[in-house]
Amino acid sequence: MLLIYNSLSRRKEEFKPIHADRVGMYVCGPTVYGDGHLGHARPAITFDVVYRYLTHKGYKVRYVRNITDVGHLEHDADSGEDKIAKKARLEQLEPMEVVQHYLNRYHKAMERLNVLPPSIEPHASGHIIEQIEYIKKILEAGYAYESEGSVYFDVRKYNQDHNYGKLSGRNIDELLSTTRELDGQTEKRFPADFALWKKASPEHIMHWPSPWSEGFPGWHLECSTMGEKYLGTPFDIHGGGMDLKFPHHECEIAQSVAHNGHDSVHYWMHNNMITIDGQKMGKSLGNFITLDEFFTGSHPHLAQAYAPMVIRFFILQAHYRGTVDFSNEALQGAEKALGRMLDGYRRLQSLKESADADGSLMATIESIGTRCYEAMDDDFNTPMVIAALFEACGIVNNINDGRTKATQAEIEALRKIFDTFLIEILGVVADSATTDGSSDMKPYEDAVDLLLEMRSKAKADKDWTTSDLIRDRLAAIGFDVKDTKTGFEWSLKK
Ligand code: ZN
Repeated sequence: MLLIYNSLSRRKEEFKPIHADRVGMYVCGPTVYGDGHLGHARPAITFDVVYRYLTHKGYKVRYVRNITDVGHLEHDADSGEDKIAKKARLEQLEPMEVVQHYLNRYHKAMERLNVLPPSIEPHASGHIIEQIEYIKKILEAGYAYESEGSVYFDVRKYNQDHNYGKLSGRNIDELLSTTRELDGQTEKRFPADFALWKKASPEHIMHWPSPWSEGFPGWHLECSTMGEKYLGTPFDIHGGGMDLKFPHHECEIAQSVAHNGHDSVHYWMHNNMITIDGQKMGKSLGNFITLDEFFTGSHPHLAQAYAPMVIRFFILQAHYRGTVDFSNEALQGAEKALGRMLDGYRRLQSLKESADADGSLMATIESIGTRCYEAMDDDFNTPMVIAALFEACGIVNNINDGRTKATQAEIEALRKIFDTFLIEILGVVADSATTDGSSDMKPYEDAVDLLLEMRSKAKADKDWTTSDLIRDRLAAIGFDVKDTKTGFEWSLKK
């Protein structure tokens, strides 16, 4: 039995999919085009593990993760202009060129974190017609109104018939006292009303025709529309970061109830947030670190580079509903822990059975496997899985050191646990753990080149002692050095 904490009921519930063998899951994808920053990593990794585990349990999962490319999210603090539009205007690019640029970077970072691609990755900009149709139905149902070319959701009217605020636990009076006076407020009947369609101002370069104006859809609308288009209504799981509960997911609920007359989502799941050295991430705090900067160590806050797998492992060492605080100390701890785990995994590959083993380890090994499943079934408790895997590492090390004897069946059972939980479900890549194997190796390669240039110079100066010293020491470390007509070649000995 799989238990999932449902943010809507605020308790763990038994997972009962709508269809016996398939699951529909929608997760809010990157909501700002920044630079693939750390904040993107946590929801991606959290729901990657949910996706992997449901698949492992035999469900056919359709996983939809959207791309918010209409660009109404990141308004420039100074001009209030949409971020994608501004970058496009300043650099004379097509807005979609800007979108593609950031999307490529995001995908690359996700790949390095071993986050599996979703089944469908729909773009908001590719679903304008569907969003317009969705608005028409909400208007027909009487839960929206047109005002000066824009269309707003009528929160007060909706709240008379339904419960606006049931996900976030906010009530409408509270909302009134916290809603700031913003641009466009005069068009609204009620300050908490939100835009379904916005008339584009002249400087807004991403806009589409609609029955109401040349404009663009409100942000919350794309997820209601695309979730229903690809998963039907209702569907099983809707996920995202906790920061999206209000207003984004609250508005999604209101829209789909207004549109369909019922809730569209059975299980709302939210991952908790990431802090850096105890502080919220933010550009103004100077701790806004991109994933690429983590991978290369090129940020003043970072003492070193951290391999993508260290970031992934660190995030999974916490339960997804708990906070994660990034600090150099904590990441270095995760790097060591991952190193220990992978040492165990590598030793396991070459373990040999003992002829006189009595099979008494099997009960312990089986109980570790059982606990891994119990942990995953208890709302995806990855830290408990990792703790159980470390216990298995202890057994591997004892066998490896000759302190314990194991049968072939016991060794196979250990391998099955690691392959299932560490590799398949937690998605840890065994061979790229602490060094990244790509750009992170560049400085070391350059250093070898530098040594060989010094050797060439020594040879030219007939300084044979230095020349031989460099060649012999590199050979001892494990480098094959060949002199060529144009200089030298080197490789690592196989
Ligand atoms: Zn969304």
